[in-house]
Amino acid sequence: VLRGGGAGSPRAASGEAAAQLRRRLESELEDIRGAGTWKSERVIASRQGPHLRLAGGGAGAYGTAGRALGLFPRCDARASLSLPAGILNFCANNYLGLSSHPEVIRAAVEALEKFGAGLSSVRFICGTQSIHKDLEEKIARFHQREDAILYASCFDANAGIFEALLTPEDAVLSDELNHASIIDGIRLCKANKYRYKHMDMQDLEAKLQDAQKHRLRLVATDGAFSMDGDIAPLREICQLAQKYDALVFIDECHATGFLGPNGRGTDELLGVMDKVTIINSTLGKALGGAAGGYTTGPKPLIDLLRQRSRPYLFSNSLPPAVVGCASKALDLLLESNAIAQSMAAKTQRFRSKMTAAGFTISGKDHPICPVMLGDARLAAVMAEDMLNRGIYVIGFSYPVVPKGKARIRVQISAVHSDEDIDRCVEAFTEVGRKHGALP
Ligand code: PLP
Repeated sequence: VLRGGGAGSPRAASGEAAAQLRRRLESELEDIRGAGTWKSERVIASRQGPHLRLAGGGAGAYGTAGRALGLFPRCDARASLSLPAGILNFCANNYLGLSSHPEVIRAAVEALEKFGAGLSSVRFICGTQSIHKDLEEKIARFHQREDAILYASCFDANAGIFEALLTPEDAVLSDELNHASIIDGIRLCKANKYRYKHMDMQDLEAKLQDAQKHRLRLVATDGAFSMDGDIAPLREICQLAQKYDALVFIDECHATGFLGPNGRGTDELLGVMDKVTIINSTLGKALGGAAGGYTTGPKPLIDLLRQRSRPYLFSNSLPPAVVGCASKALDLLLESNAIAQSMAAKTQRFRSKMTAAGFTISGKDHPICPVMLGDARLAAVMAEDMLNRGIYVIGFSYPVVPKGKARIRVQISAVHSDEDIDRCVEAFTEVGRKHGALP
């Protein structure tokens, strides 16, 4: 029997360079812990949904046995031991509850069986199947755009678009609180960069005036901002874009599928579907939650991205099962807006009950409901205490949000029952009183 040196045992690289690297990394990790910004990962032993089972959280398929067997080495055993087995989940982007929808799962299984595990290829070599073309057509139809292109993620879609579209002759104007992937995508391009204050139309106008000297101007904004649950003032942005001859790009990751009367997104909600030129969004949140992202917009732009966009050209094709999930999710949404409306009603229930209880909820009418607490420690202990009561919510503090604006972010899903929502509000009220967030 081989001990220690058997297959699968980690081997530490030898040599002074490797030792130096290890010391540097350990010190950096210590700094992260010291700064209180360490992100730990709770291990879930069930499907994504409103009710979860945490690994090590008590009886269950994997539970303590899984931990004892070392199946979940990253699970914080101490924390998990005291937790209830069944957890009410309020922190996924599973806005429509489609991540574990039986028809979505069935569609994935069928696509897996018919089209295989994956393509082992990028799209332009031998990685395009009929289901990829069908999904692109469906996405374009859903958003009422000319064409669409799939990526492995919306992070990739954002990484690929600016560099392919903009040159040093052009300008991009970006909201300062845009998602990290937009910021990174803009970094990769050679256009002139302007950063305007969060949703500040005066500042955007001043920057657009300055940017008149460039060939083309592109205003880039999240449609809905994930930390605050606030919605970009797209009407005003589009008016300014018209006035200063600019294009508008929106990232709809936290809007696609559920904002607007038919769930088309922020542009539908605010009546500017014909004024927004480019939409990037994800298949990894409301649209089944598996993975994948896309750009949809004018056909020549999509054609150009297929030729030039690096994350598209140099990365594997989306796996058939993932395509199957998203395609079915879109079918469900194209058939009816009932799921989106159910989510909106639950959001309204949570927001109004929490406000009546004395909490301040940031944003308006969005299923991202940040419970504003201010103090970082308060947010952390309240989130922990909520989990002790079986309710999974996450506290955010600096540097993820500005100093003094710590909060617990609650995300509502169509598959939460009214009782789930009420239980969450009751727990918040108890925990808020206990820790002094409420009188
Ligand atoms: N854009 C926004 C606003 C997001 O919230 C996210 C995901 O967190 C992304 C882009 C990246 O999406 P994906 O998970 O598909 O890479």
